[in-house]
Formats: sequence, structure tokens, C-alpha cells
Amino acid sequence: MASLGAPQLLGAAARCPASNLRKQLACRPAPRAQITVGHRRASLLVPRTASEQQTAPATSSPSSSVEEDLMQQLAELQAENDRLKAELASIRTSGPAAAAAAAASAIAGAAAAVVGSAAKVLEPPATAGTEAFMRQLEQGVAWPSPGTKFWEAPARSSPMPVDVGGGSSSVQPRDSRSLDVVHFTAELAPIAKVGGLGDVVHGLARTCLARGHNVTVIMPFYECLPQDQIEGLGFDMDIEVPKGKSWDGEIQLTTLKTAVYRGVIGGVPVILVRPADWDACNLFRGGRIYGGSYNELESYLYFCRAGLEYLRCSGQQPHILHLHEWQTCAAALLYWEVYSALGLYRPRVVLTIHNLDNTGECRQDEFAFTGIDGEQFATIERALDERTIGHNPERLNLMKGGMVYSNAVTTVSPTYAKEVLSGMQAGWLRSTLMRPEVNSKVRGILNGIDVEEWGQHTSPTTPARTALSHRWLFLTVYMQVRGILNGIDVEEWDPARDELLPANFSAQFPDGKALCKKYLQRGLGLDESPDKPVVAVITRLVPQKGIHLIKAALFRCLDKGAQFVLLGSGHCDGEFKAMAEQQFKDHKDIRLLVMYSESLAHQIYAAADIILVPSMFEPCGLTQMIGMRYGAVPVVRKTGGLADTVRDVDSHAPGEANGYTFDGTDEGSLHGALDRALTHFKEQRASWTELSATNMNTELSWSRSSADYVALYNSIAMP
Ligand code: ADP
Repeated sequence: MASLGAPQLLGAAARCPASNLRKQLACRPAPRAQITVGHRRASLLVPRTASEQQTAPATSSPSSSVEEDLMQQLAELQAENDRLKAELASIRTSGPAAAAAAAASAIAGAAAAVVGSAAKVLEPPATAGTEAFMRQLEQGVAWPSPGTKFWEAPARSSPMPVDVGGGSSSVQPRDSRSLDVVHFTAELAPIAKVGGLGDVVHGLARTCLARGHNVTVIMPFYECLPQDQIEGLGFDMDIEVPKGKSWDGEIQLTTLKTAVYRGVIGGVPVILVRPADWDACNLFRGGRIYGGSYNELESYLYFCRAGLEYLRCSGQQPHILHLHEWQTCAAALLYWEVYSALGLYRPRVVLTIHNLDNTGECRQDEFAFTGIDGEQFATIERALDERTIGHNPERLNLMKGGMVYSNAVTTVSPTYAKEVLSGMQAGWLRSTLMRPEVNSKVRGILNGIDVEEWGQHTSPTTPARTALSHRWLFLTVYMQVRGILNGIDVEEWDPARDELLPANFSAQFPDGKALCKKYLQRGLGLDESPDKPVVAVITRLVPQKGIHLIKAALFRCLDKGAQFVLLGSGHCDGEFKAMAEQQFKDHKDIRLLVMYSESLAHQIYAAADIILVPSMFEPCGLTQMIGMRYGAVPVVRKTGGLADTVRDVDSHAPGEANGYTFDGTDEGSLHGALDRALTHFKEQRASWTELSATNMNTELSWSRSSADYVALYNSIAMP
């Protein structure tokens, strides 16, 4: 390893750790050799201990041989200097990984015996921001042929010739208390991702691991998972999971042999559960995560039971069960009503609501897919869906049950939390939360309850839970609904290191972004103009995302001479498919890509000047943050997490502002914000470039949000 005490023969570059060295090589002309002679050589080339340095003068040669000795040292230094220059030149023509190795070897070599021969010296790198630098970046770009699936092939034929610095820092502070956290989730990026849920669980889990916590994700073993991308995948155990089975219109209680596997996905330890015999039932089978050939409600109810049964059988007592979305809510009900009486006593439950659009409707008899009867939850204060009172049958709502039976409930942004509590987003669930008798008791609890008191009510010594204690749970939920803003995985989304891009870039070295734009324009067969702003939308195509505004933006871009690129899929995609194949087929400024592609998403973010997110509601939203990280300027509707992350240029100071926002849900409101952004791009390019750099430098990682989650975990965890 290179050490900080490395020799200074080449000045600052040689003193720095490898990453700093790479930065300097990218931004400066080749450092000039500073050859020193005599006494300095000993201290510079061969690091010594303090005692050695003190004794060094005593070992000097007799005066008659000093000159000869100095000449010899000078020759050796010149040879070594040439060798180091040659190594530096090779760093410039190789990639970051080679650069790190070369930097380490250069420094180590300098500290070793001074031998070497003269080597070829290359010219210093071109200065960033010049045409010469762009030419240098272009070396090795595998330019795509228009109309091909270029995103499926490598974007470069050789590594980047220079390092653009930037990069991410994944160093996290270590927390003093290490907690055992188990997530229950239906999605986990990168291989089991449909939308932001997968990104969020992955990013939070990875960051908490880095902070020193023991984190495991329990998730379904979907048939469609690419198993070759699960590191160390191996069988763990078989367990018998109680389960109701639909038979002749009745649900019969039985058990289902379940296979549990272990592995690591994207650096996160996972437990994968599935029926041992897939031929006997089709749970989690099919080519897609959702909407496969299986019954989702039955599968996720079974999954919740299987995850808890696994924890019991393996004797684990995590501090926290962190549940996500309706698919995992039944685990909260089952934990408190069944497993807390079966020896699983330590966990406290956190539920994160990523989206209240789906809340998990469930007939009482269907709840028996978990192996226990749903009737006991059919009260207003537990999980009854009030909208169905008087219907035959009355139904349960899993999200409501999850809220009631969790110790803390979070949403994914502060504004969405407010919207949920104020009723804008919670709909009928809000009426439950805001009932007067509930409200008055909330105040009582706010005045009286503390964590220790709460601990008594949930201690393993009182497993037989009363209606009263459920009410307490419920009230505590209200008290604890809080919005913790999502972060993004800044290693996964890092324009300075992203290997899917034709050129890397950073706020300090933004040139590569122009190349990414040209690359995308060429690949998609668009007009290759740097002066036409590329407006990008990357989204699930569902009503939540503002389908009518996405369409309106497309036509506005057409009118205003901008380019529009959509990457999206979902059940509203029919109209976009039709436009892609007819009206805008081979259009020079519009491309509608109705599909899902992770690699194309990376390339579009990198090429985009503007990232558009006109959602009707948005619990947090990741695309505006990823877009910013890649130097795009967001244009968003001011709702939920979009309101928390985007500050309008026209109402915020430079440096604080990062995009354009609008309030209304009509086309006129959208046009107002989009037009302002397009004018800014066209008429004030220097200020636009600054804005883009500000966005790239914005702190968007999980550092801050993970600290909030850890604080929440600690506030409810048992010792
Ligand atoms: P949501 O969770 O509601 O879908 P988010 O903005 O929170 O919305 O997260 C969306 C995530 O899914 C982002 O990582 C985005 O890049 C990705 N994504 C959405 N649609 C596509 C697509 N068609 N192809 C590739 N990635 C997509």
C-alpha cells in the first residue's frame, strides 16, 4: 500500500494516496521532477525512522569521496525520475483501476533502491474544457449505430484515458451501538427492482451495514431472479410454514414445506424463501416480479409467515423488523399476535410506507393464507377497512393493520408525511387516524408515554395482548408517523465511475456529459445537436406519474425546439407505444422507449439536460435526485418528496436553487416551469452549467437519512 509518508521526488503527486494522485493527474500538466541532491535524497527516497535520521550524519563518507558520491546519487535520481515519469504517463493512458495500481507501485518503487533506465516521456494531458481534452475523452468510445440496442453493448472499447475525479465517498461513521435489523421486502435492487422500493431498501441496508449494524433482507425467491447475480447462493434450511389453502371454495389450514436460501445481492446479505416444491404450487413463479402467474395476495401473506417462521426456527432475535409496503404488513400482525408468544420477543417493528396508492385489500378468509384466521383483525381499531362496513364480506386492509401493529411508521419524505396526516394522500385511512376519540387519546399519550413505559406494554412477559394495548400501539403510530427523506446509492449512481457511460464526468470535469449526450443522440437517431436541450422522463407509466403532463411536455418540447426522451413502462404505456411506432417513428427530436432497461436509464440520466417529474403525487421520487447527480436540472411538480428536494431557480438564491417547480396539475402550470427551464438553457448557458455543477455536488447519499433511521431504531429497540 502507498503510504502518506511516501517520497516526495515528484512533488505533491507522489505524496498523495492513489485516489488523490488520480485526481491530480487528470487535472494538471505532468508534474515536473524536482531533483534534489545530497542530504535531502536520503530523507526523500528512502524513508527512515527518526532514530535512523538522527544517526545518518555520522555515517557520511570522507570528504574526498563526497563529490563522486553525489554525482552517483544524481545519476541514480535522474534515472529514477525518468522511470516515475514513464509510469505516470502510463497511468494517463490507462483506466482508474490501473491508475491505482500504478500509483501504488510508483510510490513503492520510489522508496525502493534507486535503479532504472531512461524511459519514454509522454506529453502532459490536455487541459479540461478544451477541444483537445474532448478528443482525448473520445478515444475508446464505442460509438453506436443509430437504431440498434446500443445500451446492451459496452459503451467504451477501452477504459477512460483520464480520471475525472469526483467519485463517491462511501465512508460512513460507525455507530456506537450495533443493531440487528431484518428487512422484509418485495423488492431489492439491483436484481429484484421494479421501482424506487428496491433502490431504497438496498441503499438503506448497505449504508446501515457500513455503519456497523447487522442487516439482513428477507425477500421472496422469485423464479425470475437471475441466480448467477446472487453471490454465494446456497441452501440454508427447510421449514414447515403454516398456510391456508383454498380448496373447493373453503380455506383449509395446512403447512407448506418451504426452502430457505442465503446469498448476497449487491453487497447485502439476503434470505430468500420459496415453496420447496415449485411444481406443487406456483407462488412467486413467472417471468416478472409483480403480475407474474401467481396470486400476489396469497404469495405475500405466505411470505410474511415464512419470514417470521424462519426467524423462529433459526433462533434469531433481531432488534428491528423493518417492513416495507403492504406486501409485508401482515408480518406486524403475525408478530404481535402469534410469534411474540412463541419465543420471538425482542424485535420492535418499523413500517415504511413508500406509497399509499396500494394498501393491500384482503378478505378475512384470505388472511388465512398466513395460517391464522383473519376474523380477529376485523375490528375498526385493528385492520378492518372501514369502507367495507356493512358489506358482505367486510374486508381487512393490510396497510392499516401494519400501521396499527408497528411501533413506528415512516414515510419517505417529510412533505409526504404531512400530506398523509393532513389527508391529501391517506384518503380513508386519514379518517381513521383523525377520529376525535383517537385524537384526544393521542394527546394523552404524547403527555404520558415514554419508551420505557412503551417497552412494558410490549414486553415478552405480557404476550397476551389486550384491545387496550392495541389501541396504544395505534396511537403511538399516529405519534410517530414521520417522513425520512430517501437517499440514493451514490456508488451505484456515480457519473465519475459509471461503467455504463461512454464517458465519465464530474462537477470538476463536466466535459464527458456533452459526450454522453452526443452518444445518446446518435444511438437513438436524434439530431446530434449540443444546443437542443434533452428533456428526459424515466418512469413507471402509471397515473400517479402524471401521464397527461408527460404527453403535454412532449408536445411542448416539439414546439420549443427541445428534444424529448422517455423511458417508461407500466399499464398506461399503450398510447406511448402507439406514438412511438407511428407519429414519432424516426423523429429527429422525440424518442419514446416503452421498456425497462437499467443500463439505458444510466445513459439517459447522463445525457439529459432536464429531468422531468410531473407526478400527481410522489412519496419521495428518486429520478429527480439521480438526474441531479448526473448534472441534469429537474423540472417537477411540487408534491411530496419532489417539494422537499427541488428548489426553484426563480425563488431561491444561486447555490441553493437546483431546478424548476410548478404547483397545478394542468398543462399551463407545467408549461410555465418547463418554458423557464428551456429559456435558461438556451439564453444563459454559463449559468446553466453552474447549476448543473451545483446539482452534481449536492449531497444526496444515504448518510443523513440512514442516521435518522438508526436514531428511530434506537428509540424503540429493546436492549
Ligand atoms: P417509483 O418508485 O414510484 O417507481 P421512484 O422515482 O422512487 O419512483 O423510483 C424509480 C426508480 O426506477 C428509479 O431508479 C428509476 O431510474 C427506475 N426506473 C423507472 N422506470 C424505469 C425504466 N423504464 N427503466 C429503467 N429504470 C426505471
